Amino acid sequence: MSGEPLPLVFEAPRRGKPPTHWADLTPAQRREAVEAAGQRAFRARQLSAHYFEGFRADPAEWTDLPSGLRESLRDKFFPELLHPVKTLTADAGTTVKTLWRLHDGSRVESVLMRYPDRATMCVSSQAGCGMACPFCATGQGGLQRNMTTAEIVDQVVDGSRRLDRGEVPGGRGRVSNAVFMGMGEPLANYRAVIGAVRQLTAPTPDGLGMSARGITVSTVGLVPRMQQLATEGIPVTLALSLHAPDDELRDELVPVNTRWNVEEVVDAAWNYAKVTRRRVSIEYALIRDINDQAHRADLLAKVLRRRGNWGWVHVNLIPLNPTPGSKWTASRRRDEEEFVRRLSARGVPVTVRDTRGREIDGACGQLAAQA
Ligand code: SF4
Repeated sequence: MSGEPLPLVFEAPRRGKPPTHWADLTPAQRREAVEAAGQRAFRARQLSAHYFEGFRADPAEWTDLPSGLRESLRDKFFPELLHPVKTLTADAGTTVKTLWRLHDGSRVESVLMRYPDRATMCVSSQAGCGMACPFCATGQGGLQRNMTTAEIVDQVVDGSRRLDRGEVPGGRGRVSNAVFMGMGEPLANYRAVIGAVRQLTAPTPDGLGMSARGITVSTVGLVPRMQQLATEGIPVTLALSLHAPDDELRDELVPVNTRWNVEEVVDAAWNYAKVTRRRVSIEYALIRDINDQAHRADLLAKVLRRRGNWGWVHVNLIPLNPTPGSKWTASRRRDEEEFVRRLSARGVPVTVRDTRGREIDGACGQLAAQA
């Protein structure tokens, strides 16, 4: 395989923390903050409604607040966290990728994907990523820093704002689903990610009122955090990026496997399903001649079926998106079909993910945040 492996980085550098934003606070903290600013507590509800229900960032639109007050409240509680650098669209305008500059100059991306029955926001949770997966553009850049709860939430609010304003074909709407599959390893930034999930699922106007079932948190397999997630009482979908059913190959493709191996991560996924009664998704990027052989399909089926057949798992095969200058490439169609056939024949539910946004580098493993 290519080059020197990058080191695994679990602790993000402590720098570049942005100012506190409304979406970092709990409802009680918001009331306190508003009172500390010399205002009556009911203003907190008004501000939350503007942000979480109306997606209104411009104080000129806050017409239920005295005009002399609006700008100072905006400056105090709604600092600009994400500055748009570039927006690209594909799929007739229904896929929208945005490159953001954070306040310290770090860059991240988010992708809005609208389907007939839902609108999904793929969010970043870290600037860069420390997990060093060799086939992934993000991983090759290393980890710059963790994102805050509000920086994560604001990506979803931006998507809902676009939908609410009718900027995306298909009529007005809002984001129904969120997937933590943009830049970063979500469980390496656990506190901020859980905080964001709570803001997304809190009923309006305190949060976005989304269903936990519409939220997917992905991980390369940080086992202690997977166990912790199972105890949070928020039934999000867990997606485990497995990419190989054997340690020899997974050590290379997903270097964190040297810390927690296939048996341990699959056990943790099984436990998550058992505790939450939510079916776990096993993500498997099909890479030509690397992990797409028939014997690996058989082994994957064996590893999963060994833990029972009670609907606890589903395999999501991802045709790899080529990254520029990379030797990793998508499987041949016939190998992909054979992989699917072998899993199905062994009773493992399997689908092949559609690769929305491929033409704008907006699919998994392609978010490298180049301007
Ligand atoms: S595949 Fe995911 S976990 Fe691995 S380096 Fe890329 S962003 Fe990080």
